[in-house]
Amino acid sequence: MSATTGTLYIVSAPSGAGKTSLVKALVDAQPQVRVSVSHTTRAMRPGEVDGVNYHFVSREEFLARLERNEFLEHAEVFGNLYGTSQRWLEQTLAEGYDLILEIDWQGAQQVRRLMPQAKSIFILPPTQEALRQRLNNRGQDSDEIIEKRMREAVSEMSHYVEYDYLVINDDFAHALIDLQSIFRANQLKQQAQQQRHARLLSELLA
Ligand code: 5GP
Repeated sequence: MSATTGTLYIVSAPSGAGKTSLVKALVDAQPQVRVSVSHTTRAMRPGEVDGVNYHFVSREEFLARLERNEFLEHAEVFGNLYGTSQRWLEQTLAEGYDLILEIDWQGAQQVRRLMPQAKSIFILPPTQEALRQRLNNRGQDSDEIIEKRMREAVSEMSHYVEYDYLVINDDFAHALIDLQSIFRANQLKQQAQQQRHARLLSELLA
């Protein structure tokens, strides 16, 4: 627990830009950063774990939660519903953790309206070809779905201009340093440092 309130980060990217791997690498090295686990009505992919990658729920359950105002934001992406749990988000920030929402541009717009202090980061692939390659490499979707996802990716990328930071994921290690630098710079801001080092500051000025 900490006296500081954490910072909320929105991270968006087209499918295949490497967002999930980058966020995982960032979080593994930074114990004060947490990632929100969204609810979704999408079917589980091989290797995914309920409660880790997503909370996988039926459409009925999702709509019931929506009705009870449990989501800070929600959106329909590729025909599936996705939403961020408001209660968990508020608790985690109040405990002083920085929190990442991996959400699409529609969710990002909703969160910006509700929490204008949130920092938003857009991750871009180096080229369209690299994106197509990465979608193919997953080997989990048909050609038709890959083409559809390419079109969706271009449409998602058209929103890059709404974000505070842009990271180009050409080289994974460089992109990770870029991402870490954004977090570090925000952690060093005046107000956060004042709260974190209140005792030191009063001792220095005594
Ligand atoms: P995927 O099904 O490939 O994991 O994610 C598809 C898209 O849904 C991605 O752009 C992802 O960022 C977005 N997404 C995942 N969770 C949420 C959420 O809780 N809210 C919103 N608005 N988008 C989400």
